[in-house]
Amino acid sequence: KILLASICVAFLAVKWTAPTFDAESLRGARVLVTGASTGIGEQMAYHYARFGAQIVITARREKVLQQVAEKCLSLGAQKALYIAADMASESDPDKVVDFALEKLGGLDYLVLNHIGPSPFSMWEGDVEHTKWLMKVNFFSYIQMAWKALASLEQSKGSLVVVSSLLGKMPSPFVAPYTSTKFALNGFFGALQHELAMKKSNVTISICTLGLIDTESAMEKVSGVTSVPAYPATDAALNIIITGATRQLELFYPWFTHILTVSKDWFPSITNYVIQNSYNYNP
Ligand code: NDP
Repeated sequence: KILLASICVAFLAVKWTAPTFDAESLRGARVLVTGASTGIGEQMAYHYARFGAQIVITARREKVLQQVAEKCLSLGAQKALYIAADMASESDPDKVVDFALEKLGGLDYLVLNHIGPSPFSMWEGDVEHTKWLMKVNFFSYIQMAWKALASLEQSKGSLVVVSSLLGKMPSPFVAPYTSTKFALNGFFGALQHELAMKKSNVTISICTLGLIDTESAMEKVSGVTSVPAYPATDAALNIIITGATRQLELFYPWFTHILTVSKDWFPSITNYVIQNSYNYNP
């Protein structure tokens, strides 16, 4: 108990010493948010809008994007443009970055957030789905990051990668999804080192989220687990602050940080807890 209490105090101390967020720094900022038609991405678009940013949003459904962009303008965005794109396509990730660079005249923030739909079920050997999901959730991220890097370098900008606790701690029922998030953490973790060693102007923030109450997540887990879900709007704000204050990592909610450590320090207990936090009868 004493050990656990000390770990909690240490993590809270890290949280309290985080840099201060200046909302004014986002006024006029040029931002591209992916996966912004629903969920956390949509909430991020609204927050950036309230801060007076210039936003480009993307996802596949054009009509929904149009509605989100209109709401962004009504909330105070200096600009709110949208472009429909499928991140499974070879060319769409580049097309989206080119669109944002052209319309905004450069980028200060690239927020990579989209995910393709994936079943919440035991792995039954669907290799094709996993390959497709890798394209959407991983390869498109690195393609867009590379395309935007020169502009971010010029603007001393930030690359924000929305990842998951499941990118640090494997869980049942989401093997393809977990793999894509582990790939993101590995790739962008390596890139963080390389940019620091090159004394690059660009920072990368990797965001580790626990369960968030978006429609798509709730649909999958309702009745299956009693793990608490945290509000999408708060998750979105925390992601934005992490990027704006150029922090390398976010753990939201904060105890996800403790869970990632406990997995390495107390593997048997953690495995027991994970396997017993779902209603499953073989
Ligand atoms: P949602 O499922 O609510 O939203 C996903 C977004 O991605 C939508 O805008 C969707 O729009 C878009 N999208 C889906 N497929 C494609 C595609 N092929 N090409 C382009 N865009 C696509 O996700 P959440 O808001 O729940 O999650 C957002 C981020 O947060 C993700 O990175 C997720 O991994 C992470 N996260 C979420 C958690 C949660 O519990 N919700 C927990 C941990 C991490 P459209 O259908 O119009 O294309």
